[in-house]
Amino acid sequence: MDSTDVVIVGAGAAGLLAARTLAQAGRQVLVLEARDRVGGRVHTCTPAGFSAPIETGAEFLHGAVPLTRALLAEAGRACYDATGRAYAVRQGQLRADDNFFEHLPQLLDKLQTLPHDLPLAEFLQQEFSGEEHRALREMAMQFAEGYDAADPARVSAWALRDEWATGDADASPRPVGGYGPLLDWLAQQAQAAGATLHLSRPVQEIQWQPGQVLIVDQQGQRYQARQLLLTVPLGIWQQPADQAGHLRFTPELPEYRAAAAALGFGAVTKFALEFKEPVWAAKMPEMEFLFSDAPVPTWWSQLPDERPLLTGWLAGPAAERLRLHADEELLQHALESLAYLLDTTPVALRQQLRAWHVANWGADPMALGAYSYPTVQAAPARALLATPIADTLFFAGEGLYEGPATGTVEAALVSGQEVARAMLV
Ligand SMILES: Cc1cc2nc3c(=O)[nH]c(=O)nc-3n(C[C@H](O)[C@H](O)[C@H](O)COP(=O)(O)OP(=O)(O)OC[C@H]3O[C@@H](n4cnc5c(N)ncnc54)[C@H](O)[C@@H]3O)c2cc1C
Repeated sequence: MDSTDVVIVGAGAAGLLAARTLAQAGRQVLVLEARDRVGGRVHTCTPAGFSAPIETGAEFLHGAVPLTRALLAEAGRACYDATGRAYAVRQGQLRADDNFFEHLPQLLDKLQTLPHDLPLAEFLQQEFSGEEHRALREMAMQFAEGYDAADPARVSAWALRDEWATGDADASPRPVGGYGPLLDWLAQQAQAAGATLHLSRPVQEIQWQPGQVLIVDQQGQRYQARQLLLTVPLGIWQQPADQAGHLRFTPELPEYRAAAAALGFGAVTKFALEFKEPVWAAKMPEMEFLFSDAPVPTWWSQLPDERPLLTGWLAGPAAERLRLHADEELLQHALESLAYLLDTTPVALRQQLRAWHVANWGADPMALGAYSYPTVQAAPARALLATPIADTLFFAGEGLYEGPATGTVEAALVSGQEVARAMLV
């Protein structure tokens, strides 16, 4: 049996930065990752037929994200700004941009004086129930569903107030070459500092007592450590005991399970469609973003990179409802939306399609969702989940992060680094 100081479960952003931090401080570190690759919800890849890499997971830098920027700089990787124009299509009419930000001052006014937190849907019902506010209500719900992958019946109105007040959703640079190389670099750094990384090792059970952990993977392989750092996504935490992918603790941690269940974890399906030509360019020149009332509502190009790749985005409850559909059915759904937006037919679009990829994160067995969103009960639930047990079990990851960068690579990196530093004290 392998025996080590620390076993880290998960080689995503949180696990890899923690591995580097702990290994550089001289700890013996073993990382166990279920997938056959590192990166987790960061995945830069070139599926068959694509002319260049695509991002199936994280793509943008949302907001200030100082740790992400510092690590990108340390890895020698630059960022570039997206360029182009935003369009909107509502009831079949093409418009320049959408009017969410027009409604913002009105929304923020009421949110700033809201005396206690409420789920967004309840807040809108309470403050903006009239027919004259229909457009505002729809925009606010669509934004929470589309950007935060959130269920409006659960997402915290106060948290959205803080997010909307910063205006971060507007700025969206990307790392040159994608996020993947940053995560590969972190893995190399961790290994260069002495960490061992095992891929294709889905952990099934964690047996523990103070000062000792026994980890069992799906193949029955056992690993022993003094401390464990678990960085699996909230979707894994929330998976019921009778479902595939459930991770068992012996003894169980009922309060921690309840805290995980109180947090929001939304689904996203991300479509990458590479065409022979930019099929949207005649109708929407220099299109960067397209927002709409189509079933797959949000689309973007790669500008300033001119390759004819469109990304479609379906998030929140709508993505959850289609979670169990086959990729080909989801592609058809996306093409029908795009045909409506471009005033053409799915058949005509298929003839122009060179390559396609559907990333259905709600159905991904090692994520079971895309990223977290704050519910009304989020603060105490996150605080509990981030509390170590007996200096033996430690927890990190995007979903446990407290701060302004919810649901991002930054959140995962900060959480992984903070917990690793706490383990060194
Ligand atoms: C579609 C999509 C778009 C996104 N867009 C952006 C964006 O533009 N900008 C941004 O900043 N963020 C974005 N994010 C969020 C960002 O990708 C995540 O917040 C971040 O990558 C999470 O890192 P993590 O280490 O917490 O979790 P993960 O990356 O999920 O790492 C956890 C690891 O644990 C592994 N694991 C799971 N179960 C087990 C098990 N039983 N045994 C062993 N290993 C296991 C998983 O395979 C995974 O590798 C996006 C996410 C998605 C899905």
